Amino acid sequence: MADLRELYQEVIIDHSKSPRNFCKLEHANREAEGFNPLCGDKITLYLEITENTIINSSFTGSGCAISTASASLMTEAIKGKSLKDAEALFEKFHVMLTQGDDKVDLGKLNILAGVKQFPMRVKCATLAWHTMHAALEDQHAPVTTE
Ligand code: ZN
Repeated sequence: MADLRELYQEVIIDHSKSPRNFCKLEHANREAEGFNPLCGDKITLYLEITENTIINSSFTGSGCAISTASASLMTEAIKGKSLKDAEALFEKFHVMLTQGDDKVDLGKLNILAGVKQFPMRVKCATLAWHTMHAALEDQHAPVTTE
């Protein structure tokens, strides 16, 4: 169990140090900004959507290891998903982090399940997802976690 936790930590450190899809997306047709005042995490999320499918996603910004790793993992997870499936994934991810349901199989995203033990960090982990939701809704005002 301890080894597994270490492995998870390694993945989070890896994704926070060298985030995937960390760039401005050239052909983005949706964009949203998110801010987590509790921690100071900032993110700009870019999505390229064609016919209800997210064909590409990327992000820029700065934040703590958890927020960066979560955004990195999210941009990988939602690529190729329909808008409906991406929102459903957010729903499940949120349940995992807030209700501690770690039986949900979210693939790589399960790595972040441990964050539920640190309620202050849940907002770091969900910031990218709230921002994705805003981008899908085509909401232009920046998202702020409460
Ligand atoms: Zn944070």
